[in-house]
Amino acid sequence: MPLLVVGSVAFDSVETPEHRRDSVLGGSAVYFSYAAGYFTPVRLVGVVGDDWPQEHTELLNQRSIDTSGLQVTKGKKTFRWRGKYLPNMNDRETLEVHLNVFGDFDPVLSEEHRRSKFLFLANGSPRVQLKVLDQAIGASLAVADTMDLWIREEHDELMQLFQRIDGLVLNDAEAKLLTDDENLVRAGHKICKMGPKFVVIKKGEHGAMFFSDYETYVLPAFPTERVVDPTGAGDSFAGGMMGYLAEKKSFDPVTLKKAMAYGIVTASYTVEDFSLDRLRTIERKDLDLRLDQYERMLSF
Ligand code: AMP
Repeated sequence: MPLLVVGSVAFDSVETPEHRRDSVLGGSAVYFSYAAGYFTPVRLVGVVGDDWPQEHTELLNQRSIDTSGLQVTKGKKTFRWRGKYLPNMNDRETLEVHLNVFGDFDPVLSEEHRRSKFLFLANGSPRVQLKVLDQAIGASLAVADTMDLWIREEHDELMQLFQRIDGLVLNDAEAKLLTDDENLVRAGHKICKMGPKFVVIKKGEHGAMFFSDYETYVLPAFPTERVVDPTGAGDSFAGGMMGYLAEKKSFDPVTLKKAMAYGIVTASYTVEDFSLDRLRTIERKDLDLRLDQYERMLSF
């Protein structure tokens, strides 16, 4: 079942305590679509400048990602983000953001894209996310991501968005900021009351929590020693989760739980190298293998 994602496409520069990489392929929609592409056909909608190399598009196409919605704006530059990880490799500081073409991003969905049944609004302005929702008339499951910038600067639009989406994915610091509550269990329930039918709080190396009116649970991260670059872990978690839901054409509670587990194992590969470098080396069977190990780890 086709899955539509709208979000940032970027050049990332990343500093970790041990390594540094400049201008590598990144962006929320890129990590999301590459991860989801293991499960289902993905349609990516985003914008880049004329500094975008064709080989990046080809890499996405090799994973059956439809890039017809990737708009190239002549005379402008692609979105750039620079971040630095603290020694714990969980917390990071944003050093530079150059919105460039992404600052004027006004996505217009094609007729085919408007009919997609599964929709992910990757991290971006809630104003833009609302515009996409207006166009996505075929969506039976709409899930969004957000971040501190929008919680602070577009709070009213974010609250409108929450009334219209089925699920929200955000990280622990963002959940605390949004609810002004340090207790994540209370924060998760408070966010459910703001509108979304379910809420997923990502906790980096500590896994993810799920909240709905009917259930609350926590799944640990897949234990991996090799953490090279955590950038994109959150987006590839969401990609694995939504990709599995779209593959199964379902979002009942049992499928959602397994989708969370797939999201967790997908993210565990992403962090093992920079950019998409680790994901590029794996196949669907590697995700299934790790899922088996994860399942065995959790059964007692
Ligand atoms: P994650 O590590 O999963 O939270 O997401 C990292 C990705 O988010 C990077 O590849 C960045 O290019 C992208 N990103 C950073 N800041 C923004 C922003 N303000 N809007 C959209 N995407 C962003």
